[in-house]
Amino acid sequence: MDTVILEANEENIAKCAEMLKKGEVVAFPTETVYGLGANALDAVAAAKIFKAKGRPATNPLIIHVADKQQIYSVAEVNEGARKLIDTFMPGALTLVLPKKGNVPDIVTAGYDTVAVRMPDHKVALELISKAGVPVCAPSANTSARPSPTRASHVYDDLKGKIPVILDGGMCPLGLESTIVDMTKTPPKVLRAGAVEIDEVAKVIGDLDTEKVMVDTLAALKVPVGYVPKAELVFSAFYDNMSDVINKYYDSNKNVHGYRPVIFCMNFNADKYKGRNVMLMGESVAEYAKLLFERIREAENLDYNLIIAEGVPMGGMGTTVLSRLIKLSGGKVI
Ligand code: AMP
Ligand code: MG
Repeated sequence: MDTVILEANEENIAKCAEMLKKGEVVAFPTETVYGLGANALDAVAAAKIFKAKGRPATNPLIIHVADKQQIYSVAEVNEGARKLIDTFMPGALTLVLPKKGNVPDIVTAGYDTVAVRMPDHKVALELISKAGVPVCAPSANTSARPSPTRASHVYDDLKGKIPVILDGGMCPLGLESTIVDMTKTPPKVLRAGAVEIDEVAKVIGDLDTEKVMVDTLAALKVPVGYVPKAELVFSAFYDNMSDVINKYYDSNKNVHGYRPVIFCMNFNADKYKGRNVMLMGESVAEYAKLLFERIREAENLDYNLIIAEGVPMGGMGTTVLSRLIKLSGGKVI
């Protein structure tokens, strides 16, 4: 199968919406990462997503909607969920809710719950709204690869396996949504993502957050994380972490074919003089946004070891650390 990349203009969005209606899959941009979408009410179409990604059938998909009303058509919405929908949607928050009977089992991996989100991205919203159906879409990467934040990343992973990629440029947030399971009391955070957990707690109060890190570590046992081609290690965050990173960097200097790179905050670059660095921005939020992007860049530049600076816990720091744990397989230096 040929995979075409189409600029996300009116005409091409309409073309892709038609493909979704006909049961085809389409890769499209959202504000978080690129998604690989299919009609969420069509089991045969949804199956194509699992096949293209090599995604285990046990890993459920997130349903994307174009308006808040559409959420009520696929899920039972309780009071807490309604508040979160009103506050955060459209946005990078996914809610797990009891599912309605029209959602095929393949989409929810057999669970009686469904994950739903309304993306805050013009192209995604237009595509879903023109398709006229909710669109189930996981990230548009090969399973176990870092999530794609550009059309070219999708192409690198899925060329020959999907018919079309709508190119809407770089994803503004660059990392996945925060997921909260609203069927639990108190609601439980399943994934730290682009919306800060504290902001969610401000709206619904009590929230089971303690398990985020533990769950991430548990997830290491099941290979559903991200496997960069380059090995990745990261430093815990402390004042002299640059010394630890430099020592680690230099210790293998004489090994044949050793091509290391340090991911560091812009203001720390001076501490790694004479060594390869890639800049992660001026803040933890920028670090979060650039992480997947920089990993794919590092791979393309043939670096085989990424040594990433740690960040302080809390807020987006928690999200960044949970991604670094997954990416590194827990290798902290
Ligand atoms: P992805 O879209 O690739 O970021 O993956 C979607 C993630 O959403 C899955 O890996 C699950 O962690 C989560 N998810 C989706 N549906 C459910 C559900 N019904 N219950 C719990 N978690 C879900
Ligand atoms: Mg994913």
